[in-house]
Amino acid sequence: MTNKKGFTTTLLHSDRLKKPEHGALHKPIHTSVTFGYDDVQDLVNVFQNKASGFAYSRQGNPTVNALEHKVTQMENGFATVCFATGMAAISSTIIALIKNGDHIISSSYLFGNTRSIFQSFIDMGLDITFTDATSAENIKAGLKHNTKMVFVETIANPATQIADMEAIGRLCEEKGILYMVDNTMTTPYLFKPINVKASLVINSLTKYIGGHGNALGGSVTDTGLFNWLNFANINEVYKKQVKPETLGVTQIRKKGLRDAGGTLAPEAAHSISIGSETLALRMDRACNNAKALANYFEAHPNIKKVFYPGLAHHPQHEMAKRLFANFGSLMSIELDESIDCFAFLNKLQLVVKSSNLGDTRTLAIPVAHTIFNELGPEKRAEMGISDNMIRLSIGIEDLEDLLGDFGEALA
Ligand SMILES: *Cc1c(COP(=O)(O)O)cnc(C)c1O
Repeated sequence: MTNKKGFTTTLLHSDRLKKPEHGALHKPIHTSVTFGYDDVQDLVNVFQNKASGFAYSRQGNPTVNALEHKVTQMENGFATVCFATGMAAISSTIIALIKNGDHIISSSYLFGNTRSIFQSFIDMGLDITFTDATSAENIKAGLKHNTKMVFVETIANPATQIADMEAIGRLCEEKGILYMVDNTMTTPYLFKPINVKASLVINSLTKYIGGHGNALGGSVTDTGLFNWLNFANINEVYKKQVKPETLGVTQIRKKGLRDAGGTLAPEAAHSISIGSETLALRMDRACNNAKALANYFEAHPNIKKVFYPGLAHHPQHEMAKRLFANFGSLMSIELDESIDCFAFLNKLQLVVKSSNLGDTRTLAIPVAHTIFNELGPEKRAEMGISDNMIRLSIGIEDLEDLLGDFGEALA
């Protein structure tokens, strides 16, 4: 099998191509914390990045490595480092690559915990500017001489704003700035950020890629587009040890994963790996369910507003159509003021009141009271989040059952 195969075929046969022991179809779960060598020189070579291999599982493990290979293939990337969670991937990558005195521009439409860790970085002295990333002009206006990174999400949660990713990609390329794109909401099945010139791609593997709400994980993929030799923060030691194209992942693995220690457990890596085999099937089904429900909510008198990129009135609908294979399964609804948000949620029988997203099951959560509660009313207003907003992550249930459950709760 040498030719490039389709998305699902590639995932299904990825482990087998590297010939796991006994003809196993899955890479086994390697629980060993450390790895021994007969010749100490071999151990030294691994430490000095002169040979690939495993030394201590905090910074690398064969089971996790098999998943890293899968994520790289999914993203058409160059290399991937996995982490314990999506948040560990984001925070560790920034710790690995950014120094005091550097400036980051971030979309102001962010996953709540990402916004919160960015605030912590600001409190530690980092300069981070938040701006409306639905227009690349705002990013351009925020540039400083020391801007090192631009961070955006593909579809922001919960109000589904879509970053002006193509234009931001061109801008970052022109200025030689790292462009980090959080692809969690779209997944590499619907969208590959390498196509908009992203340098680094974040995925929360906890969400759609793992897909079953039974394992936490995160990843950062180097697309191979960024020239790390021009990046001022690369450790001189690594420049002597590794090829220029692997400088980024080497530094992320060492300074991010090894030092900050947000390591993905091999058991979780295995669950995520199995889950990822059906990513395409689940996404197709969930996206279809979401589209049908969005249209249903749109026509319902008790719903004031529907936030979903698949609807024609969505401000970035045309961009979503151009960039993504489908519109995703995340949406938010704003109930009419006459409807009590909690009463509505409590009437739902099938839909689970839960904070996760990207599960096989449909999940609902009142946004202002939970995931965006710590921000306070002012920042929420700035981010377009009302008190009557409910975020829905649509699952793969039979559509009729979902329509029935929402219909009864809205009646
Ligand atoms: C959930 C999520 C994260 C964090 O992922 P965890 O695995 O829960 O740490 C980051 N970004 C986005 C867009 C998310 O939805």
